[in-house]
Amino acid sequence: MKIIKQIDTSGWRFHTVCDKCETELEADSSDVVYNHYAGDQREPYSYETYHIVCPVCTGHITVPKDKMSKALQLQIQKKMSKPPYGGPFDR
Ligand SMILES: [Zn+2]
Repeated sequence: MKIIKQIDTSGWRFHTVCDKCETELEADSSDVVYNHYAGDQREPYSYETYHIVCPVCTGHITVPKDKMSKALQLQIQKKMSKPPYGGPFDR
């Protein structure tokens, strides 16, 4: 297979301010944590979230999906499916 054009995810940065402690942060793709929640009776639809953890207050900061390319989302999902982050994929 010949790849014509691949999306480069290495230069991605997410600039934000923690809403709990107001620390200014810049995250790269290795900082993003992916979670997938399967649906149940209470919450019938499955959904997924991306977040980073503030190094100062350990608060979770949501990374909006529209800030990331699909290639980047996939890369983060793959990273999270490997140990020690096997959590949501153990079932
Ligand atoms: Zn914080």
